[in-house]
Amino acid sequence: MPELPEVEILREELRREVIGRRMKEVAVFEKTASQFPVAQLREAAEGRAIVGVRRRGKMLILDFEGGCSLIIHLMMVGQLLLSPPFTGEPRDICLELKFADRVRLTLGQVRLKYVHLLPTAEVDSWPPVAKLGIDPLEESFTVDLLRRLFAKKRGAIKTTLMDQTAIAGLGNVYTDEILFRARLHPQRRASDLSEEEVKRLHASIVAELQRGLELGGSSEMAFLHLDGSEGCYQESFQVKGRKGRPCLVCATPIERIKVGGRGTYFCPQCQSSSQSSSSSSPSQSSSS
Ligand SMILES: [Zn+2]
Repeated sequence: MPELPEVEILREELRREVIGRRMKEVAVFEKTASQFPVAQLREAAEGRAIVGVRRRGKMLILDFEGGCSLIIHLMMVGQLLLSPPFTGEPRDICLELKFADRVRLTLGQVRLKYVHLLPTAEVDSWPPVAKLGIDPLEESFTVDLLRRLFAKKRGAIKTTLMDQTAIAGLGNVYTDEILFRARLHPQRRASDLSEEEVKRLHASIVAELQRGLELGGSSEMAFLHLDGSEGCYQESFQVKGRKGRPCLVCATPIERIKVGGRGTYFCPQCQSSSQSSSSSSPSQSSSS
């Protein structure tokens, strides 16, 4: 599923490509879209320009001139493609925005029930957005904030990291890589982390998201850039999908367990379940 880095990449690409572009026509293809406000979207978008592109957690928000916004959640395998530069045939399109200059923005492989039209002024108070926790790319995401967040959480670290109301944007892929980098066992209780461990976790969250962004996101599943190209973060996974293969740091076979119902990869040696000292590090970063 697209996580924070993938959605952030799309936000940045959309910002460059579609802001200022005027919409000519909106087309809806899903047959069972009876709940979707097609007429209102046409009214809100046709003849108007896109004036803003934002991200909240894993959601993308397109702001139209005139005061309406479209909120899109790509769910598991959703794809947003801009043709051109994309030259292929987008798959399973549910929504298409045609611009006056014939460029088309298509949304595919996701149901329209994950797309919402709202007045721009109400986006931030809309419950699914309002309940989101801190964005880990923001400057206000500090070690101190993470410590305070974790102090109250009695669940497993992994589950806590994926709780969108605590930290917004992390999913099953990045959390495994983050916890390996921080050499923390995914099942340890969040509130049990030491000062040093919280610091390490914070540095690992920021560093791993940055690495995902630099590598163009993960196209392990269906994520594509706006032009249809793939990211390559998946080529450098340290633990994800590597069950039984040697840990890249200590050669111990990587294990797969379930945490909060989600398949979780970790190194039983590097990520011991007891509190770890701060010396030996599998991390590429020296940031703590
Ligand atoms: Zn290891």
